[in-house]
Amino acid sequence: VEEEKELEEVYTPAAKTIEKLVDFLGVPASKCLKTMFYLADGKLIAVVVRGDREVNTIKLKNKLACLDLELADQETVQEKLGLAVGYVGPVGLEGVPIYLDEEASLVANGVAGANKEDYHLINVNYGRDFTATVIGDFRLLGAGDPCPKCRGQLASARGIEVGQIFKLGTKYSEAMDATFIDEHGEKRYIVMGCYGIGITRTLAATVEQNHDSKGIIWPLSLAPYHVVVVPVSNRDERQMEIAESIYQELLDEGVEVVFDDRDERAGVKFNDAELIGFPIRITVGKKTLQQGTVDINLRREGEEFSVQLDQVSKKVRSLLQSNKL
Ligand SMILES: [Zn+2]
Repeated sequence: VEEEKELEEVYTPAAKTIEKLVDFLGVPASKCLKTMFYLADGKLIAVVVRGDREVNTIKLKNKLACLDLELADQETVQEKLGLAVGYVGPVGLEGVPIYLDEEASLVANGVAGANKEDYHLINVNYGRDFTATVIGDFRLLGAGDPCPKCRGQLASARGIEVGQIFKLGTKYSEAMDATFIDEHGEKRYIVMGCYGIGITRTLAATVEQNHDSKGIIWPLSLAPYHVVVVPVSNRDERQMEIAESIYQELLDEGVEVVFDDRDERAGVKFNDAELIGFPIRITVGKKTLQQGTVDINLRREGEEFSVQLDQVSKKVRSLLQSNKL
């Protein structure tokens, strides 16, 4: 345990951020106390975490049981507390509740803003030099932190939020007087929760993970259409007839199919088919007329093969049932 040293005020011009403070004083960020201001349902609060940590606003919001939590702007802080932003600290901080992260409360001989322009305090110790309104867990966990469940270390990876769950508790049921009678005949507030799954963001997340430089690669389960039928030349009546009959046959069998009958060059249609991401492309061209086959192209693997005209719908059906797409 580090012995508590004497509190001292030091001149720290232009050291408004933790990074600059670390450079200027030559102390690690973990020795600094970072003070942030938030508006919780419009009420100003101060939150103190270690300089190498970030505030977890969800934990904070849960603790405060507030509906709205936002970072307070500098003007509000200046106006309400008359403090120079960048030099605020918990020592002598008045007129605002202090929410202190438990880890920050353990910092011995720390560095904090002196609540005075261009000055910081060194050898700041919780208990001796300042107190808190609430001590709790208000920080974001990071890679390397100990796991709360085992002896391991946490790793960090990028994730995608596709849904959310909230524990609302009795906040709304109290406001709306929504009650039930419990087994003892007593009236109680309903404990509420809610969840949401984002349909649009699910699609976006899917595309983020299923694409290449040419465009989207829809998984079959989400593809708006499974098959696109592309005639190479619209000017060729025979190609158009065959393409349309394949389209019609697939349609009759309940396959989700699109017929690209736009009067565009084949290259444009192929590019668009890849961009849009149809899992299966069926191409009707010269070969079809000469050999009685169409080319089937699978978007995901880029695999291409020829199929006899009378085998097309059978092949498409078996592809749709395989897990190749
Ligand atoms: Zn663990």
